[in-house]
Amino acid sequence: ALPTLNDASLLRTSSLIDGEWGVGSTNLLVHNPANGARVAEVAGCGAEQAQAALVAAERALPAWRARSARDRGVLLSRWAQQLRQNAADLAALMTAEQGKPLAEARGEVAYAASFLEWYAEEGKRVYGETIPASDASKRYWVWKQPVGVCAAITPWNFPLAMITRKVAPALAAGCTVMVKPAEQTPLTALACAELAQRAGLPAGVLGVLPATAEDSIAIGQLWCESPVVRHLSFTGSTEVGRLLAAQCAPTLKRLSLELGGHAPFIVFDDADVDAAVEGAIQSKYRNAGQTCICANRFYVQAGVHDAFVDKLAERVGALVVGAGDQPETQVGPLIDAAAMAKVRSHVDDAVAQGAQLRVGGQPRDDLGSGFFSPTLLTGVTPRMRVAVEETFGPVAPVFKFETEEQAIAWANASDYGLASYFYSRDISRCLRVAEALEYGMVGLNTGLIASAEAPFGGVKQSGYGREGGHQGIEEYLDLKMVCVGL
Ligand code: ADP
Repeated sequence: ALPTLNDASLLRTSSLIDGEWGVGSTNLLVHNPANGARVAEVAGCGAEQAQAALVAAERALPAWRARSARDRGVLLSRWAQQLRQNAADLAALMTAEQGKPLAEARGEVAYAASFLEWYAEEGKRVYGETIPASDASKRYWVWKQPVGVCAAITPWNFPLAMITRKVAPALAAGCTVMVKPAEQTPLTALACAELAQRAGLPAGVLGVLPATAEDSIAIGQLWCESPVVRHLSFTGSTEVGRLLAAQCAPTLKRLSLELGGHAPFIVFDDADVDAAVEGAIQSKYRNAGQTCICANRFYVQAGVHDAFVDKLAERVGALVVGAGDQPETQVGPLIDAAAMAKVRSHVDDAVAQGAQLRVGGQPRDDLGSGFFSPTLLTGVTPRMRVAVEETFGPVAPVFKFETEEQAIAWANASDYGLASYFYSRDISRCLRVAEALEYGMVGLNTGLIASAEAPFGGVKQSGYGREGGHQGIEEYLDLKMVCVGL
């Protein structure tokens, strides 16, 4: 069940620690979500390997930190080139273990490379400050220095980009970093590590430790509790983010947390409805709805409600569901049985409470156990589970609203605050609504918002810290003030 690779040596099945491909302590099985077949067996790491990676990262730090930002940038650029040159193989591995359509997997490889490219340059612009002192006999400098050894724990929905989005700014800043990829998707992470080796990254600067779900807990604990680790970056559920933050409290580690979302998508009467439908398809059904910035609830104003729903229904009904390695596939399988159970229960709950099923609503058992048909629900009300919980599946619940105030109030009635979207052509409304949305990101007349040059992140219980942009590297830098007496 392994995909055919142009370069078979990209299939790595053990950890990269201190520049060596290691042995593991447990067997980590990788499955293809499209058919349940075993893709590979990976040697999983435990606390012992996590400690070895930590020692290696600490040892590699002084020399890495001492190199010029330009030198580090050259290595990151080479690594990006390696990703782009091996895009077909990386995409094949990603689709095999994660399920997303190959075209999306190719897109993610380019997206992942773009973080390496962005920070290869941004590392050169870590400027300090000189501050005029109020005391004439003093001078102030402000410097930025790498925080030190960093750890990253990443999710399965973007198996490559969530690694480079953390690792690129860390390395560019002069930090060394250890990554624990999601248990579902170690192969993409390890292929990425192999390409880092080929790009010439020195031993210990990057560690990649695949692990089972159980061992991930032990590894997380060890890194969180270690005073040597100065920063932890995590992308995943709010629940685990909270736990990791608590574990990091005793050592007062710096944290970047990119957690769950529950994105509202608002369509006002004055919107370009066709553009809103297009944005809805892009935002909602990408990765089968399994992204933290996927639109999770649609608020549509009464005047355009029926037109929007009709047009969206037509598009949703035409989406092709299938295995990610089939060229015509637009919506792949869900990651696992738990994801399927959650999606089903959200749809069933809405229907039981009176929502109407416009499109889909059922598993596609004819294709395999992991597939759910793209779904459109109307007549959704605030008491339904789809209104308050992140569905993480291909389900669009539509609410009808009357006034702008109502839409803003409903949109903000969430503990989450990651992405939000709205469509309007009235400039005053655009300003008012964009200001009023309590979210870290707003898509205004667009359903696609993420890019390496812009700061990605949330407010409220969607976490803190930013990834991407010139802001992203600040997470990995400490400020030092130098007060000079003359
Ligand atoms: P998801 O629901 O998307 O799987 P999780 O938050 O459970 O999100 O997982 C995201 C990442 O966090 C994965 O790499 C997973 O192995 C890791 N993880 C989950 N629980 C823990 C934990 N207690 N300590 C450390 N890492 C964890």
